[in-house]
Amino acid sequence: MSDTVLNYVAGQWTRSRSTESIPVTNPATGAVIGLTPLSTGEDVAGAVGAARAAFPTWRATPAVDRARVLFRLKMLLDEHKEELARSVTREHGKILTETRGEVQRGIENIEHACGVPTLMLGDTLEDIAPGIDCESVRQPLGVFGVITPYNFPVMIPLWFWPYAVATGNTVVLKPSEQDPLTHQRIVELAEEAGLPPGVLNVVHGGQDAVEALCDHPDVVGVSFVGSSEVAEVVYRRATASGKRVQALGGAKNHLVVLPDADLDTTVEACMSSVFGSTGQRCLAGSIVVGVGEAWKPLRERMLDGASALRLGDGLVDDTDMGPVVSAAHRDRVRRFIDEGEGDGARLALDGRGATVKGLEAGFWVGPTVFEDVPFDISIGTEEIFGPVAGLNRATNLDEAIGWMQSSRYGNACSIFTTSGKAAREFRYRAGISMIGVNIGVAAPMAMFPFGGSKGSFYGDLKAQGRDAVSFYTDARVVISRW
Ligand code: NAD
Repeated sequence: MSDTVLNYVAGQWTRSRSTESIPVTNPATGAVIGLTPLSTGEDVAGAVGAARAAFPTWRATPAVDRARVLFRLKMLLDEHKEELARSVTREHGKILTETRGEVQRGIENIEHACGVPTLMLGDTLEDIAPGIDCESVRQPLGVFGVITPYNFPVMIPLWFWPYAVATGNTVVLKPSEQDPLTHQRIVELAEEAGLPPGVLNVVHGGQDAVEALCDHPDVVGVSFVGSSEVAEVVYRRATASGKRVQALGGAKNHLVVLPDADLDTTVEACMSSVFGSTGQRCLAGSIVVGVGEAWKPLRERMLDGASALRLGDGLVDDTDMGPVVSAAHRDRVRRFIDEGEGDGARLALDGRGATVKGLEAGFWVGPTVFEDVPFDISIGTEEIFGPVAGLNRATNLDEAIGWMQSSRYGNACSIFTTSGKAAREFRYRAGISMIGVNIGVAAPMAMFPFGGSKGSFYGDLKAQGRDAVSFYTDARVVISRW
């Protein structure tokens, strides 16, 4: 019998009032390893109450002391890196090198948030008029809701809550119901690091908990990451009740390869972009475009590389690609492949029948490659979020940029070339927020803003970096005459 995951409210591990739960599975084996309670509005209200009660004291705690708690947490996370990575592989499925990288990226956000005494500094100007001075200060706002997806269960919550608490706010976190176990351990470590009760609260669940956070009058803002459909709903619902919102959504990323690109490094980067994390990344390449003469060798090398990938349990050393997160998601990815075939795209490599010996109950989809994907069919326009590549040929860079821009999404894109002029043209015209030049996964580090544009992002200020500090504080100005 698996244990029901506990909520964390006012420093206490507590049972949700709900009797409903959904299973957390190990995607490589199909085994149930936990149960996520579908917490109620009352559970959320309790956590918001705890966060609100903790706010005045935490806000008055000097920024250097708040940062010291995060320093201790960073040290503890470093010590527990391997344990956390293995835990993510167990509940998410991606391979250990990927989960180690995820934990490291999460830690880097804590390191950046430790700079809060500097990041929060204000400005002063004497004599804006004779004898009158003006200063600006950044002040925290209160209780923030943080709602996160399944694909980076360690890193994405750490894009948000460390900055929110570093700047003096308190938080209610609603992790993904599909893989909430590892972050429980991080909360235990945060407690060990000295984070006071009520500063970080966790409520597990799904839609009801999210809606309760969006509606609660004592929640001043919401940070959300997930699919665009839900991002838009959360953005509209939470802004309608007067909150500030940053809502990061889905993606359909194009990788454009010019004939002058270095083929070895390009193929390696494209392979890891498309098939890394079994395609379950918002920065994953989805459509790979070979321009002119680049197409033929790119096609051959991508097909060879994809056919050679070893599918298996992410905890086993020689596995190249793990399962997808759930049976439902596997079926969704397979449906996309069915549709692509039905809609006339040429299926050059079919991962639908893939399985792994001894792990037949796992949620497997093998590497899949389509060729000549039209941009008016579902696999050309929708986010598949699985190991499925569309391999297209363009006659020139203009055509490739035009295809990319026709997408409703605007998360990431990449160009592969040795021409500085072409790269400049690409980045200048892309109109997309995260741009790679000879990089397959254009992931900004913690000190830079992370987030897309168009249908990939709803809001103004993005995750990480200085944007995070601006999102979680209000710039207040004092004008004085004595
Ligand atoms: P999801 O939208 O299903 O869920 C995200 C969160 O919203 C979860 O906490 C979930 O419980 C909640 N939720 C789900 N349905 C809801 C509803 N109807 N009403 C209210 N809340 C709801 O996303 P997912 O499947 O967990 O994650 C994958 C998605 O996240 C992909 O679309 C991916 O591109 C996106 N993503 C984007 C970024 C980015 O930086 N833009 C990063 C990671 C993931």
